[in-house]
Amino acid sequence: MISGIIVSKGIALGKSLLINLENKKIKKEKISKKKINLEIKKFLKSIKKSINQIKKIKKYTEKKLGKSKSEIFEGHIMILKDDELSKDIINLINKRNTAEISTKKVIKKQIKEMKKIKNKYLKNRIIDIKDIGKRIINNILNINIKNLSKINKKVILICKDLTPSETSQINKKNILGFITELGGETSHTSIIAKSLGIPAIVGVKNITKKVKNKDFIILDSINNEIHINPEKKTIISKKKINKKFLKNKKKLEIFKNLKATTLDGKEIKIGANINKINDINIAKKNGAQSIGLYRTEFLYMSKNKLPTEEEQFIIYKKIVEKMKNKEVIIRTLDIGGDKNCKYLNLPKEENPFLGYRAIRIYYKKINIIRTQLRAILRASNFGKLKIMFPMIISLKEIYFLKKEIEKVKKKLKKDNIPFNKNIKIGIMIETPAAALISNDLSKEVDFFSIGSNDLTQYTLAVDRGNDLVSHLYNQMHPSVIKLIKIVVKASHKNGKWTGICGELASNPLATKLLVKIGIDEFSVNSPEIPNIKKIIRESYFKEKK
Ligand code: PEP
Ligand code: MG
Repeated sequence: MISGIIVSKGIALGKSLLINLENKKIKKEKISKKKINLEIKKFLKSIKKSINQIKKIKKYTEKKLGKSKSEIFEGHIMILKDDELSKDIINLINKRNTAEISTKKVIKKQIKEMKKIKNKYLKNRIIDIKDIGKRIINNILNINIKNLSKINKKVILICKDLTPSETSQINKKNILGFITELGGETSHTSIIAKSLGIPAIVGVKNITKKVKNKDFIILDSINNEIHINPEKKTIISKKKINKKFLKNKKKLEIFKNLKATTLDGKEIKIGANINKINDINIAKKNGAQSIGLYRTEFLYMSKNKLPTEEEQFIIYKKIVEKMKNKEVIIRTLDIGGDKNCKYLNLPKEENPFLGYRAIRIYYKKINIIRTQLRAILRASNFGKLKIMFPMIISLKEIYFLKKEIEKVKKKLKKDNIPFNKNIKIGIMIETPAAALISNDLSKEVDFFSIGSNDLTQYTLAVDRGNDLVSHLYNQMHPSVIKLIKIVVKASHKNGKWTGICGELASNPLATKLLVKIGIDEFSVNSPEIPNIKKIIRESYFKEKK
């Protein structure tokens, strides 16, 4: 039996599609003299294939984004047609190297030389060269390069790892589920799977070796079972379980539009977490009463340069307008950790989750946060918007961020641009430091939102994305619960409220406990909203007499 770490429950049955295997080890062994010509042919064929692929991408980009955006691909084609490049690679093949190793070596050498020259134009060319090198090698090795949004057959994805930005391209109509070798329960890839409501299992050792393309797969993330080319009777039995699972899900639908009021009368707001504007549709369909967390970094990751103030403003405005009179909490950029943004050129770190992440980046890249705050404030004129800052550990940071908000407000006023002068400001409580000084912090902000995903990893010293320690990752560990209690108490003492937007909020096993602790608002993965509402309606806030 093959199993892993369940991240999103359900059952998917379908053909496998192996993707993103470009990290597959390139063998270094020498080839025999007889094979040299064959290797050269393989290389030349790959160049031709790469050119054709890029021509198609160029055409698509031109149609979607205009001619100027598609020009970069003309550059790619020119590099591929460059005789010098081919000559250098073929020279190495003639020295009995494989086509892929020869390409890798030549590309590496070119990049090294380009890096010596400090020039912005060349820096961008390095990215192009890397991209092209990867494409040539993948084509030599016959590896598919996929844009997940373009998959148009119903498949179960099998891969080593998916990045959060790749996962956010998933179209759930065609991607029935996914299995990865790496990843943990609350990595951002897993969170997206949950919010899409597609079955997923991560941390499955060697799955890319066990499965071949077009194998028939049963991905049962209810029972943590993966079957490859199973017998007919297994398929029939799993289909039955799935039917029951879907029927139960359907039954919960009656709770979608009900209020989450406890048996002793405390009404708790149930919001949704979203990563992109379209997620609002799923949120509304499931009865979200607010957006308790909009992870704006996904907007940044979907682009190849920083989104402008205008681009951001249009999206934030659309989001509040779509939510009509309901509240929307926009969290400012939380890049770093497992969320990377290539064009920001963030340094590679030993411990990215403990390093240069979220608000820590704002100090050196002040215009990023100023632009974002300006866009959020402008959008605040069109609905109930709140600002939330991630990764806080000190009062000093809050002073800095509030000062920035004031500066942006002042400038907007000067420019005669309307905004909500009394916009509410909140912070994520996702570090033990913030939880322990929450009494002081709550005097400075309007609300808290508990980020249990990070709070757990930082409290337990367990990487949230590492399958090797995932058995130690427990959002209901007594230490985490103790910190949450401290935070809720501190906020209430100072007349503020505390929500929770980490995955603990979506865990039905934790709902009654969180209600008892006094959490005022839950922000959950949209598909979980009906179930969480149901459980709250069966809970008591105060002890039953
Ligand atoms: C959290 O840490 O719990 C949280 C909600 O933020 P993210 O998952 O985006 O880090
Ligand atoms: Mg977090």
